[in-house]
Amino acid sequence: MTGIQDRLRRAVDAGFARQVAFLSDLVRFPSVRGQEAPLQDWIARQLADRGYSVDRYTLADVDMFNLPGFSPVMDTDYTRAVQVVGAKRATPPTGRSLILQGHVDVVPTGPVELWTHKPFDPVQRGDWLYGRGAGDMKQGVASMIFALDAIAAAGLEPAADIYVQTVTEEECTGNGALSTLARGYRADAVLIPEPTDGTITRAHVGVMWFRLRVRGVPVHVAQAQAGSNAIMSAFHLIQALQRHTASLNAAARSDPWFGGIPDPIKFNPGVIRGGDWASSTPAWCEVDCRIGLLPGVTLESAREGVERCVAEASRAEGFLANNPPDLIWNGFQADGYVLEPGSEAERVLAEAHRCVFGAAMEERRSTAVNDTRFYGLYHRMPALCYGPRGENHHGFDERAHLPTLRQTTLAIACFIAEWCGVRDA
Ligand SMILES: [Zn+2]
Repeated sequence: MTGIQDRLRRAVDAGFARQVAFLSDLVRFPSVRGQEAPLQDWIARQLADRGYSVDRYTLADVDMFNLPGFSPVMDTDYTRAVQVVGAKRATPPTGRSLILQGHVDVVPTGPVELWTHKPFDPVQRGDWLYGRGAGDMKQGVASMIFALDAIAAAGLEPAADIYVQTVTEEECTGNGALSTLARGYRADAVLIPEPTDGTITRAHVGVMWFRLRVRGVPVHVAQAQAGSNAIMSAFHLIQALQRHTASLNAAARSDPWFGGIPDPIKFNPGVIRGGDWASSTPAWCEVDCRIGLLPGVTLESAREGVERCVAEASRAEGFLANNPPDLIWNGFQADGYVLEPGSEAERVLAEAHRCVFGAAMEERRSTAVNDTRFYGLYHRMPALCYGPRGENHHGFDERAHLPTLRQTTLAIACFIAEWCGVRDA
């Protein structure tokens, strides 16, 4: 380790108790979709206290509907979707600029009684901190802010412009990340510390959300043969989509990035509503679905595949043939992304990782989406998805691994020091 790395290590260690307390504060905010504003306002104050100039705005303030990567939304109030960008500009800048970005939205908890501890009441047990969002990705948000804190505590400052962005909508559209680009923020590289357990995300699949709206004919179940059951019709469509997914996965075996991963395309009927009465055939059913697509496959062709599947399955069912379902593209319309090997940003990160962990930075291929696509695919900025270790993301007893968080924070601080350059503050 060089002298600077040694100073950074001491600073990260000295600040780590405060970092864990900061992470606990983040987890205490129940920042599910539509309820992120109190947390974002809190973070905006934290950044202002640290000397960042803060740009706080909402998604309703930004014109981005025609930009590549925009995802349509229904039933969501964007006047409450607060985004935060903290900037520290170097005068004069002599190094390479950097965006550090993390999402603060979390997914719903599911039945709270099935958690060991209350999901928004963070608890530390041994090496782990528990809570919804602790892993994905509030610990990453803490790591990027405290990596920069460590640089300051070591008496240093980055020699290039730094942007710390906390966004929402990562779990449903990506429109938070898109808004920062619509607002003009650019840099020579981007780091998103999602919980990758010290691996670099070489490629991620794309994701599309859609809603199936299926009708039926309500009759007394005593005469069920005279009616039509919307829930059973939806079930018929779900089975057809499962077969469609199987054929996509068969074709994926020859994909250059995902060929070695079994069934990289995941289809998930995630929310279902329908019917009004157990003794009436249901007149309606809605299913919210998610399906993946490989990098390089266009959203348009993936949508056509789903539409064809639903149309063919509908033609094969008596009632649906004459009453086809509505298919509504609502939420994620997200391209896949490949971080092309060989960028200077990745080389610098790999070196920082090796210094801290004493091992090479491995790569992973993700069957979920992340925000790197906006920077890398549409703006040609090298976008690195690399962060600490978590478990049970989107599940019960989600948790962050604190020893890895400490090391990752140091690795990010070392990366910033090398990428941006540092000088005495
Ligand atoms: Zn995440």
